[in-house]
Amino acid sequence: MNRIPQNTGVLWAISESGVLWGGGVQGMEQEKVFERLFKLIEQHHCQQTQGTFVEYHEPQELRELLQLEKKDSQEDLDQLFHWVEKYLKYAVKTGHPGYLNRMWAGANLPSMVGEMVTAISNTSACTYETAPVSTLMEQYMFQEMLNLVGFKNGVGQMTTGSSNANMIAMMAARNTHSTCTKTQGLFGQAPLCAFVNEDAHYSMDRAASILGIGTDYLIKVAIDDHGRMIPDALEQAIENAKQRGCVPFFVAATAGTTVRGAYDPIGALLDLRDRHGFWLHVDGAWGGAAVLSERLRLKYLPRLEESDSFTLDFHKMLGSSLMCNVLLFNGRSGILRKICSAGDESYIFREGDNGETRDLGTLSLQCGRKVDALKWFLDWKFYGQQGLAARVEKYYELCRYAEERILANPNLEMVVPRESFNLCFRYIPPVGSSKDEFTIALRSQLQKTERALVGTGYVKGQVVMRLLITNTNVDKDAIDRFLSNVVLSGKELCRQYEQAC
Ligand SMILES: *Cc1c(COP(=O)(O)O)cnc(C)c1O
Repeated sequence: MNRIPQNTGVLWAISESGVLWGGGVQGMEQEKVFERLFKLIEQHHCQQTQGTFVEYHEPQELRELLQLEKKDSQEDLDQLFHWVEKYLKYAVKTGHPGYLNRMWAGANLPSMVGEMVTAISNTSACTYETAPVSTLMEQYMFQEMLNLVGFKNGVGQMTTGSSNANMIAMMAARNTHSTCTKTQGLFGQAPLCAFVNEDAHYSMDRAASILGIGTDYLIKVAIDDHGRMIPDALEQAIENAKQRGCVPFFVAATAGTTVRGAYDPIGALLDLRDRHGFWLHVDGAWGGAAVLSERLRLKYLPRLEESDSFTLDFHKMLGSSLMCNVLLFNGRSGILRKICSAGDESYIFREGDNGETRDLGTLSLQCGRKVDALKWFLDWKFYGQQGLAARVEKYYELCRYAEERILANPNLEMVVPRESFNLCFRYIPPVGSSKDEFTIALRSQLQKTERALVGTGYVKGQVVMRLLITNTNVDKDAIDRFLSNVVLSGKELCRQYEQAC
């Protein structure tokens, strides 16, 4: 690019091909904006682990503090930054060791870098012409993942998360079982029915609702003491469904249930697939990360490579910034195009050479696609499979440590034993109190005192605190501090309960 003399602040440039393009006036000003912005971001990032995880306010209070109605003068950069500062001031520090609430926390540095670059370069990953590098990176990563999982002649897609991935897998199973559905809909057919672990993620119900299966036809299969789907119960449910005239087309094994962290027995489900011919999807949104570690894969995901589809969220245990998901199909390289494409795409997509996929949008249900491939690729290159495997194994060891500490503490109890990564525990509620109410109140106390944010969920009809370690800033000390905070808040709450009696 050659710059030619500029006047009136307008930037002109001649490209190598000699074409003349005019640029904006804001060149210099934008540089300063980024400088100013990066100072704020850096400050925020460096304070992630300091102070409390949030400055807590109830919504009404926060609304008053933010003064969202305030009129800005037009195009005022100072006011722009004023809003950014407010946003960051009250933001939850998700990288803080007190943030133990969700399946993700903080974000990997390479993926943050990638995310900033994609935000600033702002394009859509639906076509090669708008996103050449990300298209190739995404395809490269699919091959890496297919090799890792052991799917042959497969195909992949980055989606907006495992909820969406579960739906696309169910859709692929539906359209494979009932090939006329894509054009004719489900009318005039025997009802299809799908089967999941009783504790499967709610996205399965939503998928059944969206895809015309109906949530009543998503059969919840009984689980054993460990929270795993019972293969005999599945077979019984399949037989029952057939007797009612339904067609069993889809079974989802959950690899790491959301609350308990249970892994459904893939091997036994594969044997049933041979007999009943359903599609076996593996929802590894959370626990699928075990695939990175040879040791943990052997323990939790044997025969994964024989399943029909698999989804894994890189934005959960593996720490890529939200959202970063991959959905893989086994032995069906052409399936995504067949399942997802519909309508007149001629205005946007171009054919590749020799039938190669050129535009990833042809395999997707979305039109515009956020570029998620850059951050994914950067994380993968930066840490490598070994680095990520070591992280998953370290989390696993920390979970074992946390379980020991809970068992050794007279005020705490595991409500059910640990299956893998999830710890379902509680402060032993005082005698005579409603146990669930106490646990919910304790969780809320921890949050409002800004000591920690931890999840809750139901196990066997009881409320538990769900501790998840998916934060690289959490170590043994942080676990000890967190448990001391639980005990401290528990004791405070007990005193309040006694006074109330
Ligand atoms: C988190 C989770 C999901 C949903 O994933 P998103 O990426 O948040 O949409 C699905 N299944 C399981 C088992 C999960 O834990």
